[in-house]
Amino acid sequence: MLVSALPNGSRSVGDDVTVDGGVYSDNIEAMKDCDQKNRLAQEYESATTQFSEAVKELRRQMGTSLKEEYARLDRAANEARVKSEHARLALEEHIAAHGC
Ligand SMILES: [Zn+2]
Repeated sequence: MLVSALPNGSRSVGDDVTVDGGVYSDNIEAMKDCDQKNRLAQEYESATTQFSEAVKELRRQMGTSLKEEYARLDRAANEARVKSEHARLALEEHIAAHGC
């Protein structure tokens, strides 16, 4: 009783590689200096910094501060997170709409 399933090892790979060529953005000029994008990127960066500072502060106070104080910091960190997410969305939306 010898049933041997011979593996068909002759399948070639690499045929499905498609190269997405020729899609060059014509917005490179806008990319260089879009004031609004720069401003939004800066807002995002500072919002992100504020968020990470808030989290750092929260960690510092963890276990040492009063419940109320901790809750306040937790809220502040959350608000900073939401703010940074909004800033990121605003930046992404601008890039999508402006193509910069
Ligand atoms: Zn722009």
